[in-house]
Amino acid sequence: MIYFHSELFSPLFYASNSLSSVNLVMIRTKSERSWIEISLDHFVHNLRELQRFMPEKASFMQIVKADAYGHGAVEIAREAIQQGAAMLGVANADEGKLLRLQGIQVPILILSPSLMEEIPIILKYDLTPTIGNLPFGQILGRVAREKGKILPFHVNVDTGMGRSGIRYEEAEALIRELILVQGINFDGLFTHYAASESDPEYSAYQLSQFKKLLAKIPEHPPWIHIANSAGVVNCPDDVSNLSRLGLLSYGIYTDPSLCEKVNLKPVMTFKSRVSSVNRVKKGESVGYNRTYIAPKEISYAIVPVGYADGYDYLLSNKGTLLIHDSPCPVIGKISMDMTAVDISSVPKEVRPGDEVIVFGDEHTKVRVESLCRSYHGSPYELLCQTGRRARRFYFRDGELIKARPLARREFISSDYEPDELSRVIESAIGEKTGNRDIARLIFDTVLQRLFREESHPLFHRHQFYHRLRFSEPKEKSLAGEYFLIDTELSFRKQLERNYFMIACAGNERELEKYFRRDDVEYRWLLDGSLRPDDRSFTITSVRVNDLDLKYESRLSGSCLELICTHKDLHNLLGKQVRFTINTRTYYPKSSHQLTVYVTGLTRGAEISVDYDGVLPSMDVIPFFPGGQPEIRRHKGSIHLITPEKEWLLPGSGVVFAF
Ligand SMILES: *Cc1c(COP(=O)(O)O)cnc(C)c1O
Repeated sequence: MIYFHSELFSPLFYASNSLSSVNLVMIRTKSERSWIEISLDHFVHNLRELQRFMPEKASFMQIVKADAYGHGAVEIAREAIQQGAAMLGVANADEGKLLRLQGIQVPILILSPSLMEEIPIILKYDLTPTIGNLPFGQILGRVAREKGKILPFHVNVDTGMGRSGIRYEEAEALIRELILVQGINFDGLFTHYAASESDPEYSAYQLSQFKKLLAKIPEHPPWIHIANSAGVVNCPDDVSNLSRLGLLSYGIYTDPSLCEKVNLKPVMTFKSRVSSVNRVKKGESVGYNRTYIAPKEISYAIVPVGYADGYDYLLSNKGTLLIHDSPCPVIGKISMDMTAVDISSVPKEVRPGDEVIVFGDEHTKVRVESLCRSYHGSPYELLCQTGRRARRFYFRDGELIKARPLARREFISSDYEPDELSRVIESAIGEKTGNRDIARLIFDTVLQRLFREESHPLFHRHQFYHRLRFSEPKEKSLAGEYFLIDTELSFRKQLERNYFMIACAGNERELEKYFRRDDVEYRWLLDGSLRPDDRSFTITSVRVNDLDLKYESRLSGSCLELICTHKDLHNLLGKQVRFTINTRTYYPKSSHQLTVYVTGLTRGAEISVDYDGVLPSMDVIPFFPGGQPEIRRHKGSIHLITPEKEWLLPGSGVVFAF
């Protein structure tokens, strides 16, 4: 599976011509109209810069809410943890869940107040909620106790932010109460600055309020945190041991005054390429509503990025893009999918396919800060709305290391309906094997056979025993030509209904239909020389736990169906029970082989055959796709045993040859 250069979209390929062939396969970017480049080197640089302002022993919490401000939560989280992040901050339980599903193990704080509905996710994924009132804490404590857990929590104190959090005056009482609630553990106390980037006086006031509270509460939690990233630089304090790093770590200055104190490099660059080049004459207009009228004849380029890609509508007639290092002003209105830029000042010829820097480069004209100033926008907003359609490419040491879709395109199996899930699984197998036919085959044989009906819950068998005993029949008419075979099948399984069926057919085609029914627990293929009836196939006993079941036989076509019931079975519905089925039948000696199949998903099995005194020897050929069973031979008997915990796929079985 090699993807050749022609399949690769060129800008990325040229941007990093040191790509290894592994990377080439990984980043099949042939169709990318716009894309996002994330420099992990710049991110690490920014963290180092911010760490200069933090006390030596202090840790930091990387804020990765809103998919890490559009940078990719899991990638940023991993890098931050590598750089010493003690904790991650997210906006809601779902964001935390996604990180857990992706293998992140450090504590994850949900910064804003949680909803009651989020409690199950919080518990399941060991997230740390922020508690702002007593009833929530009490319910959380009760649910945690029921689950045998102790859940850490933080308290957010509003010292003047005027948003979420418990008001400063009420915080002490709440904390005193929460400390007493069983099942939850006071892990952190924090407050949030309203204007750390621009109002040091107000920040100092908030800090002093917070310190007063600290002096009053009976116990200090392990984590005390106050500053966001601008606060780290502007408002150092001597009480916190954790900083919450957001926007500055992504390389954006929230206030021009910060430029003198700290050197930040933008982590995200949003790129695209010219899709066409056009001209307008003097007096002609460009775009919707004719908001731009050409003052002279100019050439302009269309860039296939619009407000649907996160390039803000308010940048109409205001934004600037970079082509061949030259700033190109946006002309006319931003459309949903397109933006026009004046290219008359670009010294080189602009051609379709040429790379465009939409924003984020270190060039001052296209820095996020400058763009946002031009339309009075928020850099926070611009970053997290960016690249709704774009894939993100991660660079380390200048080399492309990874390509990822947006987080909301991330795969979480429980998000899908069963039908959709089947399609996803099949196409994933196709991706893995590089062949759609093989994918279909694997999907059909493994999954369809297991589930039959989509979304049918799968009840497996365990402690499975199947014994066959060969002997000589007493009937004169059959002796010589047939063996008498006594079978015992016994297994544990959840009881799904108040009856089940045992089916016996004279040929494989007839028996086939019983494999597709899930009310059939035992199927026997009778030799073609025998008629399926009560003489050639009989039940000697059938039990569920210690209930002796009644059975009725009936003929359906040429198949024998035996329906087994008991009036007390309904008491056992939904419970794990032991089925024990004993039958007696005949088998032609001339056949020289007998095959036993395991038809359902089974865990731990023993299949044995007893031929003592009837046959001098027997060969055994197991076909277990999942691994070989242990074979034990005794005088006149053979046992195949798989460990109790080992799974057997349907279609496993064994041929006994004599
Ligand atoms: C988002 C957020 C931060 C990060 O703020 P920046 O200004 O991006 O550094 C810190 N603390 C809380 C509570 C937040 O919600």
